[in-house]
Amino acid sequence: MPFLPIFSPPHSFLRSFSSMSTSVTPSSSVKARLRGVVFDMDGTLTVPAIDFPAMYKAVLGEEEYLWLQRHNPSGIDILQEIENWSPGRQRKAYEIIADYEKQGLHRLQIMPGASELCAFLDSRSIRRGLITKNMKAAVDFFHLQFGITFSPALSREFRPYKPDPSPLLHICSTWEVQPNEVMIIGDDLKDDVACGKRAGAFTCLLDETRRYGSAEYEHVEHKPDYKVSSLAEVHSLLQADFDLTP
Ligand SMILES: [Mg+2]
Repeated sequence: MPFLPIFSPPHSFLRSFSSMSTSVTPSSSVKARLRGVVFDMDGTLTVPAIDFPAMYKAVLGEEEYLWLQRHNPSGIDILQEIENWSPGRQRKAYEIIADYEKQGLHRLQIMPGASELCAFLDSRSIRRGLITKNMKAAVDFFHLQFGITFSPALSREFRPYKPDPSPLLHICSTWEVQPNEVMIIGDDLKDDVACGKRAGAFTCLLDETRRYGSAEYEHVEHKPDYKVSSLAEVHSLLQADFDLTP
């Protein structure tokens, strides 16, 4: 049973900082203490480099891909889809996925604002963790390539993976902090936001292309506490709404 949050965000549950020129925090609200930030990797700490639709089509076939796309407005969970396949078919699927992920590594670039945000968190002694459904080799490559280390950094070898809250709860217990003292930042509503919500953490959706603004996402189960269109916006969000005392 995940911890239950004892604090509710001081503002409406979906607050878009991208649309705000200045941020004003009501003086009467008590700021939540923030002791750690957990990041997603692909599309959050790194510029999207994996062609996910092409990967899904290659794994599922065109017809099944289109069917699943129609029935999963929040997005397809490819690892979940292949979970119960026969061992042979599953092995082949994992090979295709790994192949796409390897191609992505060649194009890997750090997300604008990621280094600055990490430096800001370090300056406030706020812990940094990482949860990805990519493989451990990709996390190792990321750490080596960009020289910024996240700890713990959990890859898909840690089961169950996102959107299950387990990886986030594991990080909280490693840090010896409560989930409601942690924020998860990610670009995927169905994985990152759902994982954070289930764990009882604060959630911030990075929506660079504003794809989550459309009507089809209005009725999804888990909505983020915050939505930003760049990592640069996270600084002001944290300073406005959170107690960042170490
Ligand atoms: Mg992502």
